[in-house]
Amino acid sequence: MSERHELALDLLAHGRFLAGLGTIGVAWPAGGAATPASAVQSPTIQSAAIQSPSERADSPSGTRGADLAAARAELGDCQRCRLAGGRKTIVFGQGNPEAELMFVGEGPGADEDEQGLAFVGRAGQLLTDIIEKGMKLRRADVYITNCVKCRPPQNRNPEADEILSCQPFLEAQIRAIRPRVLVGLGKFGAHWLLKTAEPITRLRGRVGQYQGIPVMPTYHPAYLLRNPAGKKDVWEDMKEVLRLLGRPVPGDS
Ligand code: URA
Repeated sequence: MSERHELALDLLAHGRFLAGLGTIGVAWPAGGAATPASAVQSPTIQSAAIQSPSERADSPSGTRGADLAAARAELGDCQRCRLAGGRKTIVFGQGNPEAELMFVGEGPGADEDEQGLAFVGRAGQLLTDIIEKGMKLRRADVYITNCVKCRPPQNRNPEADEILSCQPFLEAQIRAIRPRVLVGLGKFGAHWLLKTAEPITRLRGRVGQYQGIPVMPTYHPAYLLRNPAGKKDVWEDMKEVLRLLGRPVPGDS
């Protein structure tokens, strides 16, 4: 495919992503999404500029945990969208505020809703294996969260307005942590980070960026539970993530 053709497809996919947000207009990428006050109760979280990995190394430590805590406090007992009515627990996300690596999934399922923790069900166990057995990292050293913080009923896909309601909080989490690499898990995580509606099958394995931070889109662990053949692609993606992090890649000499 020619470069021009690729660019046209990328633009089309970005247009589809914006169209998928419906009538809620977005001002992106400058300062994240702007949604009308009627649609989303805007939080007052202030942005610190996203830093490049080298700037990150120089940044004063100790602010990340506080910034995350401020974002969680701002979220409060959130009633900003209809998901509030069906949830048991808000699943904000968890992990190391100093994490160099951050995973973004879709939204909590039943186990997560019960426990208030992201990725603790079967898909979560597989994610833990990918991180610990595959990448040889400790799950406690990374940060894991979702596009939406409340469980959609019957595990349906989150809708555009629900994703937009949660968007300022995910933006705030990324600003707080300033990870060196982001992984978009499945269609929702990948589309949110890359602002595209390209199919995940085409996106996976191709490093993009979110506000200067490298993004690796890959298959969702729940998809891998149904399609174990996809695991080898995810392993290739995770090896690339390790390279981006400058970490040893198991199996590479
Ligand atoms: N699937 C997700 O996308 N997130 C979770 O937290 C659990 C399952």
